[in-house]
Amino acid sequence: MESIPNCPICQSQHTYQDGSLYICPECAHEWDPNETSSDTDVLQVKDSNGNLLADGDDIILIKDLKLKGSSTVLKKGAKAKGIRLVEGDHEIDCKIDNMKVMLKACFVKKA
Ligand SMILES: [Zn+2]
Repeated sequence: MESIPNCPICQSQHTYQDGSLYICPECAHEWDPNETSSDTDVLQVKDSNGNLLADGDDIILIKDLKLKGSSTVLKKGAKAKGIRLVEGDHEIDCKIDNMKVMLKACFVKKA
C-alpha cells in the first residue's frame, strides 16, 4: 500500500489521496506530491565543479579571496573543515585559520 506523507502544514497523519492530490482533512491543505515545491527547506549548494555540498563537508578554496572589511587574504588552497550551509548570498559558513568566514560556493571545491 502506498504511504501518504503527513501533512506538511499541521503534521496530521490523517491525510488521504484524491486523484493526484494529497489532502489533509484537519487543516484543509491540499498539495501535489509531484510538484517540486519551491518552499522546500532542503538547501542545495553546489561547489565550483557542480558537486553538491552538505553540512560537515570539507572544502578547499580555488582562488585567493580578500576578506571584506579587512586586509586579510584567504589563500587559494586553504582548507575549511566541517562547513555549515546557510541561505543567502554566501552559502558556506566555515572557519579558515581560526577565522569565521562566509564563502560563496563558486569559489570552493569539495575536499
Ligand atoms: Zn494539515
